[in-house]
Amino acid sequence: MEAMRTDVLVVGAGPAGSVTARYAASKGVSVTLIERRRDIGVPVRCGEFVPSNEEIRGMFPRAADIDGLFDIPKELRLRDINAIRLVDPKMKASDIPFSGYTTDRDRFDKYLVSEAENAGATVITGCAFSRTEGGLARTSAGDIRYKVIVGADGPGSRVSRSLGLPRPEGAYPAVTAQARGEFDPVVVMFFGGIAPGAYSWIIPKRGQANVGVGFSPKFASGTLTEYFEKFVGKHNFDIINKLEGKYVPSQGPVSRTYTDSGMTVGDAAGHVISVNGGGIPLAMIAGSICGDVAADRVISGRPLEDYQKEWSRVMLKPLKTAARGKMLADIFAFGSDRRTGMCMKLLGKRRMGNLIRCKRIFP
Ligand SMILES: Cc1cc2nc3c(=O)[nH]c(=O)nc-3n(C[C@H](O)[C@H](O)[C@H](O)COP(=O)(O)OP(=O)(O)OC[C@H]3O[C@@H](n4cnc5c(N)ncnc54)[C@H](O)[C@@H]3O)c2cc1C
Repeated sequence: MEAMRTDVLVVGAGPAGSVTARYAASKGVSVTLIERRRDIGVPVRCGEFVPSNEEIRGMFPRAADIDGLFDIPKELRLRDINAIRLVDPKMKASDIPFSGYTTDRDRFDKYLVSEAENAGATVITGCAFSRTEGGLARTSAGDIRYKVIVGADGPGSRVSRSLGLPRPEGAYPAVTAQARGEFDPVVVMFFGGIAPGAYSWIIPKRGQANVGVGFSPKFASGTLTEYFEKFVGKHNFDIINKLEGKYVPSQGPVSRTYTDSGMTVGDAAGHVISVNGGGIPLAMIAGSICGDVAADRVISGRPLEDYQKEWSRVMLKPLKTAARGKMLADIFAFGSDRRTGMCMKLLGKRRMGNLIRCKRIFP
């Protein structure tokens, strides 16, 4: 069978891949977006919280066109959130004003894919990338010849491996499920032994909440499922679906995200806020840059190095600040409830707010 041909091949139809495909296709080059799942976004492995455009702008003031990029339809904004509640091991809560909304991540991902299709990208689901050999991608649906390949295939990126690019290190596991009930319009994060080295959460939706646990194996003494069950028991959650999990990059972006003919983006590139595991906005911002550069490469030979230069200009400083914050938390705050409680008290609301927003805690 003859290989299919495309200018830009994007692997993975999460937020990073769909936005990359949309931005590249909108410049008129041919774009193919492949996704190994048959049903986009299913199952959901996410807390489903998206910061408001104002919060995203505050964290990444150099990012272009935030309002255009995050013009998410009303029906995908399930619940407005007005604060993040940080709860210490003794259950003392501090509310930090923070705006955003919750979504149905499967519908959110489908929407972003439809935007890529509207821009002209061809989408193939049930198609798993396996490796690349000199401009030819081997996939479960046949070979695809490309000019530029983009790995938007998550933290275990096969594209990265195939291109010889680094993959995110120190990714920690997190699990999530839906709990029936009415919940306050705040994101609640619980710290301490309930989720060693990370946090457990309640993220309210409509008539239900996304509840989950992330942990750092080096601080834990059981399985993640055991921690999740403990969390469920403590709050008496009425869980209504199957527990799902995935790895979250926690050490900031990888050192190199491009080769001569390929780039990595989103989780595959470690584009995640280390202190809270948030990655949707970053995947989309980096995706918009990646798609632009990929198309320019095809049209005018622009070097792919420009992608790394541009996302670094926009996101590197806040991401490094967040990674440093996480590293300090690992050293000083995690390991015992007493230390966690003490550090939260010492930091106070204002500094914890800075931490969440990728700002320095100490001037
Ligand atoms: C439990 C949990 C809760 C989270 N909660 C939040 C939150 O509330 N807010 C937030 O902002 N972030 C959250 N995150 C992080 C966020 O989900 C990710 O940062 C975000 O999804 C990254 O987008 P992406 O497109 O890079 O990767 P993904 O969304 O992971 O998409 C990668 C896609 O590539 C596909 N793929 C993988 N391998 C292949 C292959 N070989 N061939 C073809 N396709 C492939 C996958 O099926 C997937 O669809 C959470 C993460 C976890 C694990």
